[in-house]
Amino acid sequence: MGRDAGKQKEQRMAYDYDLFVIGGGSGGVRCARIAAGHGARVGVAEDRFWGGTCVNVGCVPKKIMVQAAEYGGFVEDSHGFGWNTQRGEHDWAALITAKDREIERLNGAYRRILSSAGADIIDARATLLAPHRLRLTSGDGTAREITAERIVIATGGHPSRPDIPGAELGIVSDDAFHLPSLPRRIAILGGGYIAVEFAGLFRGLGADVDLIYRQSLPLRGFDGDMRTALADAYAADGIRLHPDSTITAIEKHDGQRVVMLDHGGETLTVDLVFFATGRVPATQGLGLKEAGIETGKDGAIPVDDRWETNVAGHYAIGDVTNRMNLTPVALAEGHMLANRLFSSGHAGQVWNFHQVPTAVFSTPPIATVGMTEEEAEKNGPTEVFTTGFTPMRHQISGRKRRSFMKLLVDQASQKIIGAHMFGEDAPEIMQGLAVAITTGATKQDFDRTIGIHPTAAEEFVTMRSRTRTVG
Ligand code: NDP
Repeated sequence: MGRDAGKQKEQRMAYDYDLFVIGGGSGGVRCARIAAGHGARVGVAEDRFWGGTCVNVGCVPKKIMVQAAEYGGFVEDSHGFGWNTQRGEHDWAALITAKDREIERLNGAYRRILSSAGADIIDARATLLAPHRLRLTSGDGTAREITAERIVIATGGHPSRPDIPGAELGIVSDDAFHLPSLPRRIAILGGGYIAVEFAGLFRGLGADVDLIYRQSLPLRGFDGDMRTALADAYAADGIRLHPDSTITAIEKHDGQRVVMLDHGGETLTVDLVFFATGRVPATQGLGLKEAGIETGKDGAIPVDDRWETNVAGHYAIGDVTNRMNLTPVALAEGHMLANRLFSSGHAGQVWNFHQVPTAVFSTPPIATVGMTEEEAEKNGPTEVFTTGFTPMRHQISGRKRRSFMKLLVDQASQKIIGAHMFGEDAPEIMQGLAVAITTGATKQDFDRTIGIHPTAAEEFVTMRSRTRTVG
């Protein structure tokens, strides 16, 4: 060993770990696993639940509940196909038990993939004491100190509550997964992902739902036609929509909640108020100040395009950076950062997420990749192709449920710059389209692609007549 290499190894061994990850969620676990796979000495601390928000109180249980809610409608759809099935009572407790069993399985899987990669799994709260130095406090109060050459903060975020009188009388999404029973009447505040996902699933399970949001349509930032299609579908499903509204106060009366709206003294009496008003980065009590790590708006940790904070050797990934709060983005960040740090072939990898596909698991869902029509219009001349139809299943079931699709084509280059779908299977379809769009597919590439018949997806390759040109 040369003198320089020997010195480097000595410096490295002066720390307990080459990499220490705070937070065992999607991003943290991926980062730790990949780094350990490259031979780094890795530790990960998690004080709540392995798999983080996504596995425990986010994507996974939410999707199970969305799927549960769909069965009631399927029973009624089946009559059109000749089935003489009867819709029975839904057993909420059975659903929660089944959901918890699946989450327990995933918690175990997360631990297993880490330990088989060779990372140290530590059930403890990690607090920074100084740069490169951490205290690990276990649930029983025992604490020890460790050092790490590099530290990755992957602590995610948590739901926020609005600052209104009676806010403590409402729940947030973390609580929604463990309700003792399905409330009969629910008011949801917010018009983002969580609000529309829970509005749809609670309604599907049989609750009366009021959805209160301060824009004229839900899902600010999504394509306007998708937002309109969702609002129309929810209204048709019996969800009471309160656009341009917010809650000003909540009071408790006889075990119920009386919700004050900002419209001329209007009130709602409900069994549950659910705040889906955004999430904030989990940076409280982490010892960031002690380590000299700066935070920005809402406590988020600013990082450069190499995920590095203002303190060298200290990184942050995922929702704690409050950039693009999506599980697959956190996974990609964790993977890329570990590669950057411990695999010489990947030293040039930087944050570069454009055209990230995403789905809202509303009922039915919305999926999207690339620009909205509103963004495309500002970008330059854009050809817009749209189609709306009743899916074949519902021609037979008789259910009033439509699908809507849109392609946005940059007029000059003919590249597809946006694809959007509202309707059954939209997320499954959009994942495939995202590959084509990420690789720069043109409208002509879509046109020469043979459809799969009979599917809804084939509409994306058979849209020939332009609906309009914008920009
Ligand atoms: P979002 O940021 O998506 O939406 C927050 C909503 O709350 C908006 O409609 C916002 O209104 C409204 N709001 C915020 N503050 C107030 C207030 N004080 N009073 C009234 N309304 C308010 O947050 P979510 O909580 O729905 O989700 C958090 C994040 O989690 C998402 O941004 C997303 O990144 C991620 N997520 C992803 C999912 C997926 O991929 N399927 C599923 C669930 C969450 P306005 O628009 O007017 O600001």
